[in-house]
Amino acid sequence: AKQEGRNRFSFFSHDLESSIRERHQLETCLRNAIIHDELFVHYQPKINLATNEIVGAEALVRLTDSEGLFISPNEFIPLAEETGLIIKLGKQVLYKACQEAKSWLNMGLNIPISVNVAVAQFADPHFANIIEKALHDYQLPAELLELEITETALMIDAADMQTKLYQLKSLGIKISIDDFGTGYSSLAYLKKFNVDVMKIDMSFVKDMLNNKHDYEIVKTIISLGQSMGLALIAEGVETNEQRQALLELDCLMGQGYLFSRPLSASDFNAFILQHKG
Ligand code: C2E
Ligand code: CA
Ligand code: CA
Repeated sequence: AKQEGRNRFSFFSHDLESSIRERHQLETCLRNAIIHDELFVHYQPKINLATNEIVGAEALVRLTDSEGLFISPNEFIPLAEETGLIIKLGKQVLYKACQEAKSWLNMGLNIPISVNVAVAQFADPHFANIIEKALHDYQLPAELLELEITETALMIDAADMQTKLYQLKSLGIKISIDDFGTGYSSLAYLKKFNVDVMKIDMSFVKDMLNNKHDYEIVKTIISLGQSMGLALIAEGVETNEQRQALLELDCLMGQGYLFSRPLSASDFNAFILQHKG
């Protein structure tokens, strides 16, 4: 009977089995990378759209599989969040990023580093201490560290979040709202939380020149940010036409393939040296 059952459901169970196996493999791979400190961090420059100067860098985690191929963060970050591995992953990325920013400082370059922070990291009661320790261990000035959080993170337990953000901001670090426009933003929260930077989500930038609707969204986000006194940065800038249009709308910073893909630490250093501001 068991055999029969197997045959009858073989199509489904096969699929399910393989997806469970894949998930398990990915989790093992991620867990090992964390234990053996084998996560990489790549850095993507943030550019002043008017002067072409490098005004910052975003740290983006990288994981390779057993064959050395990159696995997309869109695959393993959600898994890291579900399994709680995100806490350790986040800490490792933060440390590497602070170390790198300090090395730029030692080269005489003031390049602020942005680190992505997952909701669970914020919820961790030790989070502010982890940040403080990273700044202290690498002797990195707090104003050179920026945390990127999503709008959705702001909505979770608002009272608690306000205390945490206040704690973090009093260290002197900056806070930016990632993927702006895609989550459940509450304008009242935005004002209350006193964030520094708004990142316009790349989904709006992508079609801003061939979709009137997207253009209006980008325009509206920019004037909203300006009226709140926030710095604005557009994600996913891929063409010079987009750069020009963003500048005309008064968005002064951008990040995207037009300038550079995320680079390994050594490639980023080479980029800095040959880049003309
Ligand atoms: P994100 O924070 O919105 O990061 C921007 C993503 O857009 C990066 O993908 C980057 O490589 C990509 N990108 C940059 N410029 C362009 C462009 O011009 N065109 C296009 N099509 N894409 C561009 P990546 O590195 O694959 O990361 C995906 C997401 O994974 C990130 O989105 C972020 O949500 C998450 N992530 C990455 N690293 C970390 C991390 O260390 N911690 C946490 N919690 N999440 C991370
Ligand atoms: Ca980000
Ligand atoms: Ca984004």
